[in-house]
Amino acid sequence: MVVDLKLCVGCNACVIACKAANGTPPGIFWNRVLEQEVGTFPSARRIFWPMRCMHCENPACVHVCPTKATYLREDRLVVIDPDKCIGCKACILACPYNARYLWDGKKGYFESGLTPYEEKVYAAHTAGAVQKCDFCSRRLDQGLRPHCVETCLTSCLIFGDLADPDSEVSRLLRGPRGHFRLKEEMGTGPSIYYLS
Ligand code: SF4
Ligand code: SF4
Repeated sequence: MVVDLKLCVGCNACVIACKAANGTPPGIFWNRVLEQEVGTFPSARRIFWPMRCMHCENPACVHVCPTKATYLREDRLVVIDPDKCIGCKACILACPYNARYLWDGKKGYFESGLTPYEEKVYAAHTAGAVQKCDFCSRRLDQGLRPHCVETCLTSCLIFGDLADPDSEVSRLLRGPRGHFRLKEEMGTGPSIYYLS
């Protein structure tokens, strides 16, 4: 994924799209947009940072998982088998990007109980297991793009195959704009690139 920081307006549409599509329980955000204020008045400005699992090339979470619940798919997506996860939280501690959440099974946004929508979507989550963004792997398997990418109003999230030199992501990274990855010094090789 390539993220064009100049285009992100911090609308959080991608956050809501992810929540709606994946039905994540309260307090769990597979997709977040962090806000940073830079400069001083009168020339202060805000930068919005779309964040999610970086699907690292050398994922710390995979290395520490004692049950192999977290693993790399053949296509290099980092995914979790919730049936194998014992909730030890080793991966949460190991991940430098705070991308992982342990769901304790508490449900519902409303004191009045679960809505019909919540009844349905929470059934897909496993209490006591860790969860995170999987780049909408089931959509990718159908040749579709992740929900956040489809929803972004400004098209600042660009998803594609870096192994294909003709893909849009490859062309963007070869272009004149500089790019960087977060916490490169950790050696995890994140697969999300930010255009500066
Ligand atoms: Fe694992 Fe964290 Fe990297 Fe995602 S961002 S692959 S959870 S180390
Ligand atoms: Fe693996 Fe689950 Fe432990 Fe994470 S919490 S290291 S996924 S067993």
